[in-house]
Amino acid sequence: MRRFLAGIPLRKPYVHPPRFEGLTLNGRKDKKEGMYSDKLHEECGVFGVFCSDPETDAASLTYYGLFALQHRGQESAGIAAVKNKTLECRKGMGLVGEVFNPEILSRIHGPAAIGHVRYSTSGTSSIENAQPFVSRSKFGSIAIAHNGALTNAGVVRELLEDAGIGFTSSCDSEVIINLITKNYKKGLEKALTDTIKFIQGSYALIVLTDDALAGARDPNGIRPLCLGKLDKGWVLASESCAVDAVGGEFVRDVEPGEVIIIYKNEVLSFSFSEKTRRGVCAFEYVYFSRPDSRIDGVDVYDSRLRAGQILGHESAVVADLVVGIPDSGIPAAIGYSKSTGTPFGLGIVKSKYVGRTFIAPSQDLRERSVSVKHNVIRSEVEGKRVVLIDDSIVRGTTSRRLVSILRQAGAKQVHIRICSPPVRFPCFFGIDTPHRKELISNMTGLTELCAWLGADSLAFLSVEGLLESLAGEDKGYCLGCFIGEYPISAPGETIE
Ligand code: AMP
Repeated sequence: MRRFLAGIPLRKPYVHPPRFEGLTLNGRKDKKEGMYSDKLHEECGVFGVFCSDPETDAASLTYYGLFALQHRGQESAGIAAVKNKTLECRKGMGLVGEVFNPEILSRIHGPAAIGHVRYSTSGTSSIENAQPFVSRSKFGSIAIAHNGALTNAGVVRELLEDAGIGFTSSCDSEVIINLITKNYKKGLEKALTDTIKFIQGSYALIVLTDDALAGARDPNGIRPLCLGKLDKGWVLASESCAVDAVGGEFVRDVEPGEVIIIYKNEVLSFSFSEKTRRGVCAFEYVYFSRPDSRIDGVDVYDSRLRAGQILGHESAVVADLVVGIPDSGIPAAIGYSKSTGTPFGLGIVKSKYVGRTFIAPSQDLRERSVSVKHNVIRSEVEGKRVVLIDDSIVRGTTSRRLVSILRQAGAKQVHIRICSPPVRFPCFFGIDTPHRKELISNMTGLTELCAWLGADSLAFLSVEGLLESLAGEDKGYCLGCFIGEYPISAPGETIE
């Protein structure tokens, strides 16, 4: 283990953690409703600040950081901060701007803080599951913010419950805080490594104690986490756009299988796993992350632009106009336009004030919210052969609705081009994808799907094209939702 002062962190291999003897710690043993099933998948953003200057208002910095990560979760928001060596936490349902105001922030003023934004699917939308989670013991207080999904949370939870440890939520992240708390008497470093021994799945984890801030990323690096530098402190964040938002300087991504611990006068970094194949979520680049973020050396905007260019090479069609579905379809549409020479136009506008389509809980509401969300600029599309670009098709709601309103606005032809391969499989590692039977590409072939969408033609980016868009080499990505192969064993699906 190596310690260093403010500088570029160094890493040293750490002992590979053993597993529970005689127990298969995979999700199939997990009987708790919603603990791993595809009903409970969270999309979250995590953020943390640690400053050496006691006057710094870390809670307000975290508030800004969470604003920048709002696209990762709109259901609940929370901030925990260290004030006079005491951990205070405030959280609530809603957007960051709805949960916090200057008065609330002033009550948690202090030099270190962590924050969380969360979105989970129906049934688990409650304040009990909002993060950060906080635990207090005679050894001190701990708060955690977790993005990801554990595949063995139920088994570990049962073991902890058998040991008399109580739970207050149905969230897998509570397993993590209870494990850390159980081990905390051995010190933070040991508590973290001992915790990581027991958990499987995806995690970008931020931990705050009375005197330290820590970050950990799972051995495959499925969810992103990066390190930034402030004048007098450090930042950990899901995406680099949040480091920018607080005026920080991006230092580097936290490596898969790495723990970073920031104390007042030193920063410590170590790997806790043997080298494993990377499995960074490709969907982060396709849709989930902000275009101004850089994840594991790849700019999200550039990858979307390249995906559009490659899509143009793979399946060009003669047309008068290419439009992208805002927001994530726009860079791809620009790329498609570049490679095919088809003029790019705005064509579709999106209301800035409507949340992500998926937030609507039923198909009926989802369809209506798509029409509230997007509209067509008639003068731009009327009488034209239009190529409509989107980042992905999940249930098909967005594309179907947009084909229909483009036609109503007088488009002569509508050709759909999708900048990712068909989503046919669920994600078990932290992105909300519906059950297999709701994934339209799993249920229908290309021709039927094209007819159902009402389009003149339909094409998806190939898997090879997607990998090429991610900087031209396979650095190791999770393509699970496209090909059904995951970097670690995926839990069984619930049959409905
Ligand atoms: P759908 O309308 O069901 O086909 O979903 C595809 C649309 O939703 C695309 O426009 C994407 O930008 C967006 N999208 C894709 N994946 C997700 C997700 N996991 N959560 C929320 N929105 C998504």
